[in-house]
Amino acid sequence: MTVVTQVDLDTPLLGPIGKKAADALSTKLGLHTVGDLVRHYPRRYVDRGKLTDIAGLELGEHVTVLAEVEKVTMRDMRHRRGKLMQVVITDGRGRRLDCTFFNPYKLKAVMVPGLRALFSGQVSRFRDKLQLTHPEFEPIEESEGVRPFVSIYPATQGFDSWQIARCVRQVLELLDDPTDPLPESLRRAEGLSDLGRALRRIHMPETEADQYAAKNRLVWDEAMGVQLALALRRKRAVQRPAAANPHVPGGLLEAFDARLPYTLTAGQRSVGAEIAADLASETPMNRLVQGDVGAGKTVVALRAMLQVVDSGRQAAMLAPTEVLAAQHARSLRSLLGPLAQAGELGGAEQATRVTLLSGSLPAAAKKKALLEAQSGEAGIVVGTHALIQDRVGFAELGLVVVDEQHRFGVEQRDALRGRGEKAPHLLVMTATPIPRTVAMTVYGDLEVSALRELPGGRSPIATTVVPAGEKPTWLERVWKRIHEEVAAGHQVYIVCPRVGGDTGKDDTEFPDDPDDAGAGTDERRAPLAVLEVAPQLAEGPLAGLRIGVLHGKLPPDEKDAVMRAFDAGELDVLVATTVIEVGVDVPNSTAMVIMDADRFGLSQLHQLRGRVGRGSAPGVCLLVTDMPAGTTARERLDAVASTTDGFELARMDLELRREGDVLGSLQSGRRSGLRLLSLLRHEEIIAKARVRATEIVDGDPGLVRHPGLHALVAETVGDEERAAYLDKA
Ligand code: ADP
Ligand code: MG
Repeated sequence: MTVVTQVDLDTPLLGPIGKKAADALSTKLGLHTVGDLVRHYPRRYVDRGKLTDIAGLELGEHVTVLAEVEKVTMRDMRHRRGKLMQVVITDGRGRRLDCTFFNPYKLKAVMVPGLRALFSGQVSRFRDKLQLTHPEFEPIEESEGVRPFVSIYPATQGFDSWQIARCVRQVLELLDDPTDPLPESLRRAEGLSDLGRALRRIHMPETEADQYAAKNRLVWDEAMGVQLALALRRKRAVQRPAAANPHVPGGLLEAFDARLPYTLTAGQRSVGAEIAADLASETPMNRLVQGDVGAGKTVVALRAMLQVVDSGRQAAMLAPTEVLAAQHARSLRSLLGPLAQAGELGGAEQATRVTLLSGSLPAAAKKKALLEAQSGEAGIVVGTHALIQDRVGFAELGLVVVDEQHRFGVEQRDALRGRGEKAPHLLVMTATPIPRTVAMTVYGDLEVSALRELPGGRSPIATTVVPAGEKPTWLERVWKRIHEEVAAGHQVYIVCPRVGGDTGKDDTEFPDDPDDAGAGTDERRAPLAVLEVAPQLAEGPLAGLRIGVLHGKLPPDEKDAVMRAFDAGELDVLVATTVIEVGVDVPNSTAMVIMDADRFGLSQLHQLRGRVGRGSAPGVCLLVTDMPAGTTARERLDAVASTTDGFELARMDLELRREGDVLGSLQSGRRSGLRLLSLLRHEEIIAKARVRATEIVDGDPGLVRHPGLHALVAETVGDEERAAYLDKA
């Protein structure tokens, strides 16, 4: 056997630690190298003097608690030969946990009242008492010498926290301090300890201040890794120049502004000016416009497109669904009027053409649309992402507008920029409010502008939670209300989480993130489905009304037909999935009923209700749920009912979601380098790291003079290409 005397972060674990432990770490926890292990940080610390509060334990959780043995009893097993040891452990605050050990002959001498030990196992319940069945345990006197804190590690069945701690200690003893990737100037300016010290301290803190300092330094590593990756991306994105589209006096944009039936809001004007300046430059624009539903993003996008068309180039507008694409084409044409009727009778002199490219077009029409794009006849081409990305050749594409798609990946952005000599400018629009830290990470390669106010004249939406479980009569009042709305000439949406119509398959339609949707507790009934709710309502409480059905499984032309019918007022009620979440604009709709509202995310509910109250009549949104009062689910719905501030709801969503969901997890098999960074708690560090990273990349665009930082990027987000994963959130 070789004796290992010196290791670095890349050394395989087998060597510095024994084979059995190395195997366990690798198979159970995916830790293969010394670096992996020292980056496996404690989840928390137990003060050697303080027992763990047992009241905080959750059923089913794998826990490690520091507790004191209070009572030990031995008895025969009832149905088998052998002995059973029952141990009651206490947290010293009057709360107890039962531990059961089978055939514990070796334990007898050790397990005595007064013993303080770490107990580790899964929390279960037996006859109303919490218990750990056959837990692992480790007397703490032996476990860590006399250090004041016991580090508690994320552990698994079969390899416990203290076993991990032991391995970490062995490795740290052999490890020379690694070269610090962070420049010394940065460390000094931010008061950060060096890497070697931080790594030792996070595992073996002497004081609480040690814990904080170590963590702070390691959070910086992660923040720098992310921000450097993004700075490198930003750098690359502007390497290929775009075409400049300076303002053209007497052009389409001016003609359009002159015929606009309303005045732009201050936000529309200032964001418009930012975009106009971007478009006039040769640096490719990479801008995200965030504006709550109804903030008027369409007209902002259209004005940008017209500026590009004025310079003789084309603009493409991409929507997430065919329904939306068709709707955009219609509304752009109607906003432009004669300005979109090039070559038609009554068309304006400088007119252009808006071409819809839809998968459901008949072959001849599709061919014509493709030709219009290719020849440059179409100044504006509208379609779905897939379609435009794969199929269309443009005469000269100057601008790509991506609507209502905040989850638009870096790779997709790259694909859109194409391979031409010049890169098109890029404008992404989203109604999802984006907290600052998310803007700096998930969208860190985009500039972000916000439309904060809604155009005047919009009606308020009143949101009410309908507890259908406790108060069934409320549901009857819901249906009555719908009849009233329809009688008053208005239209209504009813939203369900699921499509339905087949055998129990999960066909929940959340275009966003199912995790975000609060969906999926196993024991509950299946979420309500459009194809079941619609006929029930038609035959029951909503008999006599004209009811349509819309969901993602309909063929595109049918979807479009349903939307048109609803738009034209030929339907009173639209029973739909979240396909109506984004962009659908029917000003005559005044009420929305969301069934099983607790199955949706907060931001999603906010988006959905933005579909009503778009005209002059006030809107109402009813959140139907059978979750009982006092549950978290109900509190979340109350929050949605109590505020119309999308930013506030997005922040709450962020709090409810696990960090990992937001920052994404790395692709197949690779461990995420982000362990400590929190979008909620580390706003300041993220902001500072962003500035630092930008400075460093400006001075050293390939990070050739900073090999340590280069490695840090790879460690944090894979190689920088894989910064794309940040968009998966
Ligand atoms: P969203 O930001 O949700 O995409 P839209 O662009 O669909 O919002 O605009 C919502 C509605 O507000 C549309 O009917 C649009 O015509 C109208 N609108 C946009 N800007 C203004 C404005 N400055 N004044 C009045 N109405 C406006
Ligand atoms: Mg829109």
